[in-house]
Amino acid sequence: MKNIGLITSGGDAPGMNAAIRAVVRMGIYCGMNVYGFTHGYQGILDQSFLKMDRGSVADIIQRGGTVLQTARCEDFFSFSGREKAANNLKELEIEGLIVIGGDGSFRGADLIAQEQNVNVICIPATIDNDIGGTDYCIGFDTAVNTVVDAINKIRDTATSHERIFIVEVMGRTRGFLTLYAGLAAGAESIIIPEVALDLKKIYQKLEHGSLRGKKYSIIMLAEGVKGIMSQQENAYHSPAYALSKLITQNTGNETRVIVLGHLQRGGAPTARDRILASRMAFHAVELLTKGASGLMVGIVNEETSAESLQVALAKEPIIDEEMLHLAHVLSL
Ligand code: ADP
Repeated sequence: MKNIGLITSGGDAPGMNAAIRAVVRMGIYCGMNVYGFTHGYQGILDQSFLKMDRGSVADIIQRGGTVLQTARCEDFFSFSGREKAANNLKELEIEGLIVIGGDGSFRGADLIAQEQNVNVICIPATIDNDIGGTDYCIGFDTAVNTVVDAINKIRDTATSHERIFIVEVMGRTRGFLTLYAGLAAGAESIIIPEVALDLKKIYQKLEHGSLRGKKYSIIMLAEGVKGIMSQQENAYHSPAYALSKLITQNTGNETRVIVLGHLQRGGAPTARDRILASRMAFHAVELLTKGASGLMVGIVNEETSAESLQVALAKEPIIDEEMLHLAHVLSL
């Protein structure tokens, strides 16, 4: 294999740059030319690319976001769009493609591998950690640390003013980020989609706490939690505001709401994410050189792994029962 292509696609995640750097350097080490396309699949369609040398990825390991930029690409949902992308790759004599992104990007990658015979290897990167077939995705650890940092600050004011704070955390339909950050920050309540919502328990906990003299509390709520908002509210608000209203109505306590939002996606990647990104990228290039295709690399029990994209995409990303139990016991 002489030429490989590389994209970052979908939502950005800290550590994508560390993965780009490792793909480029490992690719060159293996004697290949590495072409980085900009703005995800759109860059392949627009033939917007740069040939990357070792120097082109210097000084990026510590930066959040992605130097290749990322985008959503509508044309890739159609057969003709994917056919055009495959033809553009062929024209440039690119025989393998590495896709760094989330599950949406991997569905597109699986289609060009199956339909268009493009050799593709995927690297999971999302702060939501919501991809089956890997214990961790690039960006998750950094986001956990970002949320914990924010909670440390919120706790200072929560304890000083004896207030209840509801902090809404990202994660799409999953609670990984909320649970891990909640455990690390010592949140009084952690509410995630994976555990049945019990509002009465939350009210009781606040009441028991205040009987014990505890007048502040940090409630962490995953953005994907359903069942708090009425349909009307759903269209306008985040679940945190709906929960705040319910707590005030049912317990008389005033609350403050913080929606952390996109600041969770930014920042310099942690050492752990940089190492994870480097290991996965190394493994991905190694697999491409061996002629593998249609795979997602991952990390399972601390070892690098690889499995078919279709199998990985069909797997539910599952939160460890022990972690759930731990969160429950420690916040009683
Ligand atoms: P993420 O990769 O972060 O989950 P998206 O779901 O937005 O992000 O997907 C990123 C891009 O991947 C989309 O804009 C599209 O180009 C491509 N993609 C996503 N899903 C599919 C699909 N089912 N078929 C073809 N391409 C897809």
